[in-house]
Amino acid sequence: MNTPRLEIDLAKIGHNVREIVRLYGAKGVGIIGVTKGVLGDPVIADIFVKNGITVLADSRIANLRRMREAGIRATRLLLRMPTLSEADAVVRNADISLNSEVAVIRELSKAALSCGVRHKVILMVELGDLREGIMPQDLEEAVKETVSLEGVRLAGIGSNLACFGGVKPDENNMSLLSSLAQEIEDRFKFQLEFVSIGCSTVYSWLKSVNQAKRVNNARVGDSLLLGGRDLEEKGIPGLHYDAFTLVAEVIESKVKPSLPYGEIGLDAFGSIPTFADRGIIRRVILNIGRQDVLYTQLYPRIDIDILGASSDHLIVDAKKTDLKVGDEVKFDLDYGAMLQAMTSPYVAKIYLNRAV
Ligand SMILES: *Cc1c(COP(=O)(O)O)cnc(C)c1O
Repeated sequence: MNTPRLEIDLAKIGHNVREIVRLYGAKGVGIIGVTKGVLGDPVIADIFVKNGITVLADSRIANLRRMREAGIRATRLLLRMPTLSEADAVVRNADISLNSEVAVIRELSKAALSCGVRHKVILMVELGDLREGIMPQDLEEAVKETVSLEGVRLAGIGSNLACFGGVKPDENNMSLLSSLAQEIEDRFKFQLEFVSIGCSTVYSWLKSVNQAKRVNNARVGDSLLLGGRDLEEKGIPGLHYDAFTLVAEVIESKVKPSLPYGEIGLDAFGSIPTFADRGIIRRVILNIGRQDVLYTQLYPRIDIDILGASSDHLIVDAKKTDLKVGDEVKFDLDYGAMLQAMTSPYVAKIYLNRAV
């Protein structure tokens, strides 16, 4: 079979989806399935939907359109805040969007009116992670403006944590989000459909509490696809961490020194490389490189060490294995590596267990 390829086990993803829906559901929290890590791949989106997810979210309009055109039946949510100029494409391709700028919501309102649709808006609140969000003291004003606009409907508030600043959900920030939701409902006399948090790492908070206060929704991608592995935790027990397998092929296998020899200048990426002296080793080259994958997030399933990569070559120390030309090597991936392999046109995507 062709290499490099990404093998995607749909049965394992289906299992993860059912488990996540069940685990979060037990705390009264519904799931929005985030597809941006797989570019809105309709085959995978279909697995999300078949296993209990009704709202799909992506950061790119192109990915939402891809799923719509493939006939995936779900409510669609745009994660990344829209630009002013794409309001029209947003209301055509998304039913809901996350927003933090009233100027953009005004454009969404106009676009929705001219398309004859009702577009739902979730206002993002800053809770300290410092990516998107309205400062809490400015939220009431933004709500007031949003509810005054036609064509859009305020569907909820949300927040993004553990993403840019690495700030975890905790008693403080979750209480703040909950009380903001309550204040809006009291002041404006309507029920918020969504009090939404993300990303996958929010599970570590959720599992530690009996009830999630006013939080009733979580936007989750990584856990569904990769079992929620992160630096701090091994992942969520009972999930599959290996639904994705990267397969590359040996194109050279030779005994060579472990240190470059000759005068050292810059490498292909403009830095001066440093290497540990491992003596004479079997060096193996695989047919994948930085153009295809974030190689620092690849974990070989056999006992070899990744030494580095150029654009098109992955260099490994074969250690005690007897890797030879033509052999295939399999790797686990973290999110960044999965995302890049999904994005590379040079990596074939192969679905396993498609009939589930
Ligand atoms: C990416 C993203 C998520 C999901 O993150 P995962 O780590 O994949 O679970 C949730 N919310 C927003 C706003 C995002 O951009």
